[in-house]
Amino acid sequence: MSASSRIPPIAQPFVSEHAKRTLDLVEEFVEKDCIPADTVFSAQLGEGEKRWTTTPTVLEGLKEKAKKLGLWNMFLPKNHFTQGAGFSNLEYGLMAELLGKSKVASEATNNAAPDTGNMEVFAKYGNDAQKKQWLAPLLEGKIRSAFLMTEPDVASSDATNIELNIRREGNEYVLNGSKWWSSGAGDPRCAIYLVMGKTDPTNPDTYKQQSVILVPAGLPGITVHRMLTVYGYDDAPHGHGHITFKDVRVPASNMVLGEGRGFEIIQGRLGPGRIHHAMRAIGAAERALEWLIARVNDERKMTFGKPLVAHGVILEWIAKSRIEVDAARLIVLNAAIKIDQGDAKSALKEIAQAKVLVPQTALTIIDRAVQAYGAAGVCQDTPLAYLWAGIRTLRIADGPDEVHLQQLGKRENKARKDAVTAKLNWQREEADRLLAASGFKPKSHL
Ligand SMILES: Cc1cc2nc3c(=O)[nH]c(=O)nc-3n(C[C@H](O)[C@H](O)[C@H](O)COP(=O)(O)OP(=O)(O)OC[C@H]3O[C@@H](n4cnc5c(N)ncnc54)[C@H](O)[C@@H]3O)c2cc1C
Repeated sequence: MSASSRIPPIAQPFVSEHAKRTLDLVEEFVEKDCIPADTVFSAQLGEGEKRWTTTPTVLEGLKEKAKKLGLWNMFLPKNHFTQGAGFSNLEYGLMAELLGKSKVASEATNNAAPDTGNMEVFAKYGNDAQKKQWLAPLLEGKIRSAFLMTEPDVASSDATNIELNIRREGNEYVLNGSKWWSSGAGDPRCAIYLVMGKTDPTNPDTYKQQSVILVPAGLPGITVHRMLTVYGYDDAPHGHGHITFKDVRVPASNMVLGEGRGFEIIQGRLGPGRIHHAMRAIGAAERALEWLIARVNDERKMTFGKPLVAHGVILEWIAKSRIEVDAARLIVLNAAIKIDQGDAKSALKEIAQAKVLVPQTALTIIDRAVQAYGAAGVCQDTPLAYLWAGIRTLRIADGPDEVHLQQLGKRENKARKDAVTAKLNWQREEADRLLAASGFKPKSHL
């Protein structure tokens, strides 16, 4: 059954014939080209320092093929940008799920984070010169980029805490401070950092203190101290950098949109891109389920005289995983449809739902698959351990669950408390009235 024929009925009316054909091409590309190339990519990276100085050649071949197939920059939604491949968020959501099954597929099709979010910033907020210098090569996949917001010394899930100082001096800005978890900064092709810091740290409006400024990688005063690991994985050559800035000077024209507009930019940056991770996580869950099914039917590895699938609990794992991944997909596609019908702002509730539910669901499914493999499930012989580590970080990296839940809870409570209370009061009074009319005494004292 092809990917286009598996589109959930609820989403089908919103998917064009062109998108369906492309979706099937994405599936073939991911399954036949990218997943086998994942292993080659790791082998070509090799060991030691070389991991940070080379780009595996297998990727370049994939990129050429993806371009020829028209599988390039699908992430930029057609109702907001002219530079993309012309798909809606929903259509890309279906494609991103498939890309999420492979380590290299997103980059091979130029749909990889953080470049996607950064390209959105350039397309939405950049001036013509900034677009020409940085957006054009990013769209072509010639350079890579990093977004530097999180800092080691402050709780960065509250972005008002960000401290890196950006000071104006004549026609320049001077940057001082530290950043970490700068994803992509390890890549030798990473040419530009989008840095969030404070230009006006004493502004009484705490949302007007921040700005985003463009800093070319490698300027004097920038030190990349180390690459952080994720459960022991270095994610080379991409990497997650710990970087300091000591009197780093950039021209004033490198400011994006204007001083004090940093919050506006980070909120815009997390527009449609907010659900790309969730979309890919569905693909990771599907891949784990495939590996689970393969292991439990492997008759070379029987326990107590039977293949695993003949033990009752295993079919329940398969069934629950199917239900959970299908339900999670609907949450993501619903968010994508809502964004397509308005914008990311009008879909805040749906986006938060997807961000919280999908990684948790995917982790449950991956964990079942790990369990089915026994010790093999936690080592490098299956993709499961790496998938688990990657998806686990989303519960923090894509904004901590607790922050989304707090915002979701606040909004739901505010929107409903008065109407719900009034309705319940009315229903109680009406029940009392009906009881009295039938000769009964009122019962509820709530
Ligand atoms: C793999 C990975 C890649 C990343 N890539 C980037 C990147 O490219 N650029 C970048 O700038 N950053 C990146 N980050 C950093 C990420 O955005 C931050 O880790 C995240 O915003 C949380 O900030 P923090 O780590 O400072 O945690 P803190 O802000 O210190 O929060 C710690 C914990 O406190 C809890 N918490 C927070 N708020 C609340 C609340 N309101 N109620 C209850 N509990 C709460 C949560 O459990 C949270 O996990 C990445 C992180 C990872 C792991």
